[in-house]
Amino acid sequence: MADYYAVLGLQRTASKSDIISAFREFVYAYDPNLHPRRFSEVTDENFQKIYRAYRVLSVDSQRRQYDATLNANAPQARADNANEAPQPLRRRRGNFLDVIYEIFSGAYEARLREAWRLVKEKQAQLAQLAEDQRREVALAYVNERKAKEKEEEERRKLEIERREQVKLAAEQAKLNEAKAKEAARELEIREQHARWEKMGANTDQEKFSACLHSSFCTKTRKGKKFKCEACGARRGIIAFLCPHCGRDLCQLCVTTFAQQRARDRGGK
Ligand SMILES: [Zn+2]
Ligand SMILES: [Zn+2]
Repeated sequence: MADYYAVLGLQRTASKSDIISAFREFVYAYDPNLHPRRFSEVTDENFQKIYRAYRVLSVDSQRRQYDATLNANAPQARADNANEAPQPLRRRRGNFLDVIYEIFSGAYEARLREAWRLVKEKQAQLAQLAEDQRREVALAYVNERKAKEKEEEERRKLEIERREQVKLAAEQAKLNEAKAKEAARELEIREQHARWEKMGANTDQEKFSACLHSSFCTKTRKGKKFKCEACGARRGIIAFLCPHCGRDLCQLCVTTFAQQRARDRGGK
């Protein structure tokens, strides 16, 4: 059982006016109008504890009953209260004081209830504020996520564009390479025809003899070793078909004739 005297900070011998003023002290002490910074420490539980203590101790009959229960529960306390004899004077003045107490306690009670209401209001405001802050943080987080996603999207787009450009450049390079190869082939054909003309080669055999053979031979894999028509050796199964004279050559001859063609070009 709660010690109502301790709750109100009173001795067991406290008079009724002590109880009233102790209660009044608490009411003022917890008034959020007077102590705006204190409301957060105040709980319903505190108020209720004090108010309950006050309600019991301020009504004579209830206080007597409470004291009796208290003494029954704590035999030691009986000795402390034994000194306090009934006070006839107080009893006589009781009716008058009771009226005054009722008036004041009613006023205090109203005040306490108002204080209580204000505390509740403040606490609700505080909770709302916390909720608002939480929402704000959540919103900021969502916005940040969105911005990041957008940034990522931009980055992906740029990466795709970059790859596309690299691909285009590679295709262009391939195309240029093919063009250069075609030009070299055409030059080689012109040179070969000029050589045949210069040497008066008309027959197939004459043309073969005067052929420098092409760097653009068609490579073919033979089933067995073949005889190179230029050097007469059997060197391998890979034959190089010269597009000018239409003969099968070995790799070595193709290389040798390519070197001679290079020398001829250099001599011009
Ligand atoms: Zn040839
Ligand atoms: Zn050969």
